[in-house]
Amino acid sequence: MIESIQKALCKYWGFDGFLPLQKQAMECIGRGTDSIVVLPTGGGKSLCFQAPAVIMPGLAVVVSPLISLMKDQVDTLSECGIPAGRIDSSLSFDKQKAVLAKIHNKKLKLLYLAPERLVSDSFLEVLRKVELSFIAIDEAHCVSMWGHDFRPEYRQLGLLKQIFPDVTIGAYTATATEQVRSDIAQQLRLKEPEMLIGSFDRPNLVYKVRPRKNVIKQVCAVLDRYKDKSGIIYCIRRRDVDSMCAQLAAKGYSVAPYHAGMTDEDRKKNQEQFINEKVCTIVATIAFGMGIDKSNVRYVIHTGMPKSLEHYQQESGRAGRDGLEAECCLFYSGGDYGVWKSLMSDMPPETQKIAMSKLRGMYRYCTGGVCRHKAILRYFGQDLDKDNCEACDMCLGELDCIDDALETAQKILSCVIRLDQRFGGGYTALVLTGSEEKRITENNHDKLSTYGLLSDYSKHIVHDWIEQLAGQDYVEKTGEYNVLNVTKKGWRVIKGKETPRLLKPAEKPVKVSKSAELPVNKLKTRSNPSKAGQVAFDMFEQRLSIKEVAKSVNRAESTTTQYLVEYIEREKINNPYPWVNEQAFGRIINTAKEIGGDRIKPVFNFLNGEMDYNQIRISLACFRNNG
Ligand code: ADP
Ligand code: MG
Ligand code: ZN
Repeated sequence: MIESIQKALCKYWGFDGFLPLQKQAMECIGRGTDSIVVLPTGGGKSLCFQAPAVIMPGLAVVVSPLISLMKDQVDTLSECGIPAGRIDSSLSFDKQKAVLAKIHNKKLKLLYLAPERLVSDSFLEVLRKVELSFIAIDEAHCVSMWGHDFRPEYRQLGLLKQIFPDVTIGAYTATATEQVRSDIAQQLRLKEPEMLIGSFDRPNLVYKVRPRKNVIKQVCAVLDRYKDKSGIIYCIRRRDVDSMCAQLAAKGYSVAPYHAGMTDEDRKKNQEQFINEKVCTIVATIAFGMGIDKSNVRYVIHTGMPKSLEHYQQESGRAGRDGLEAECCLFYSGGDYGVWKSLMSDMPPETQKIAMSKLRGMYRYCTGGVCRHKAILRYFGQDLDKDNCEACDMCLGELDCIDDALETAQKILSCVIRLDQRFGGGYTALVLTGSEEKRITENNHDKLSTYGLLSDYSKHIVHDWIEQLAGQDYVEKTGEYNVLNVTKKGWRVIKGKETPRLLKPAEKPVKVSKSAELPVNKLKTRSNPSKAGQVAFDMFEQRLSIKEVAKSVNRAESTTTQYLVEYIEREKINNPYPWVNEQAFGRIINTAKEIGGDRIKPVFNFLNGEMDYNQIRISLACFRNNG
């Protein structure tokens, strides 16, 4: 099998070997073992299923979450001369029919589908009649609530094992913590899957993190280091993209914007100019990057903190795919934490808990004193086997550390010992800052010699330092309550034989009141939406569901749908996901095309009431934006 794959690699792709774990991943498919393949972005996951599909008899079905990703892969395969097709709502009925005919006549090797289409009754009927070589689930973290991009449609894929018990399944993702990994196996009902987990370290990326001060100045300093080189600047909000782009252009930098509020045409144009190096820097929201294959991106700048390390790893991972050195700079502020937190405050409790713990992990990454490579790897359950990576601001000694780190650390560690190593970081910080909380006086901890030793600082700052000491292994957190214990390394500090890194205090997280200070899009605002409307817009921007938004702005779902339609019109959104699924959207717009009009009532009647009014309203609003 591997020999014929090697021939195919050479013939169709012009590759002369495998990237790490590709061969093992292909072998799993070849011998019929289910597998979960975790490789970083750019690790070559697509080939793991594309190459076996070419040489095996039958049709391989590939599940993918986005039309743009499917289109990209199918186009590339077709260019290589491999018979591949896709069926999605953006194709006309005739084109869909043509693909179905090819499936029927055994003319295809790979078929790309959205999950909801694959598990629809009519499609399962089609697939039952053909020989399947295997099923590949791309972006498989989408099945897990613990992942960073949960998509409910992916959940239904659990059906596949019941319907096709003998067909091998391979699941592929770039970001999987151990929890997500086992969730994928469980949700997809994989049979004793082989876990193939690549290294997440990207040694050629130099990570730097700084508090955001004068962001334009900070960004320009990076751009000036990479004159005429390609790079990406990510901003959290569209208005930030526009203003950043305008300011950089005014200073003479070669930049172009990219965000979901622009027309498809403009976006495509800017993306192509970037890829063809007519423009050096693309300024974008995270809408940019999926499926983009540009290997010589020399820097990725974040002007705000992402909401998880998964996001950060994926976005920063677009730098340096050619293996040459590239820089990833993150400018954060405590305010970013506050904004994300307030946006999360209306999530259902379970989802919120997960989102908040990811957010805290991200913030810890920013404020912590740990080697950045090490911190990222640890988050994904791996470790770095060297003490100095020589590729991050920590290890390169670029950060502002406090001058009396040894003395401060000694105060903290002796307090941990005075507390008999029976308390957590929060409590220890309270004692060190001389808190008068009842539980402290009740425990007589205000009598300790270490009580109030760091009362010049806030408890947040001291708690951060404790986290930094934990990150550098001077204390460890044990048990259910994260009780602090001083490690062997920690004792070396107490004896003055080793000095830890303690960062100068960063800004502390800012509390943002929910209705007053949410980041509001002021773009293209003609009439001023109500306050509830503005909050709703921001939540829609985060792709929250109508139900969630309705609940938090305290409006009926019908009113909230009206806000959504306004939002879609304002921001020129042309894809109704996640409010309407792809299949429903396809049916609605095909109906609108067929009856030649985009009015709600006729479409509703034509569909015999099978789709509800709101779905139709939303879909038609997007349809109009598609021109
Ligand atoms: P992922 O899905 O893991 O992010 P892709 O499948 O998009 O990564 O592949 C990333 C890049 O690596 C692509 O440009 C692809 O052509 C290239 N690539 C994949 N496998 C090989 C190989 N065996 N040899 C050389 N280049 C490869
Ligand atoms: Mg991929
Ligand atoms: Zn480092």
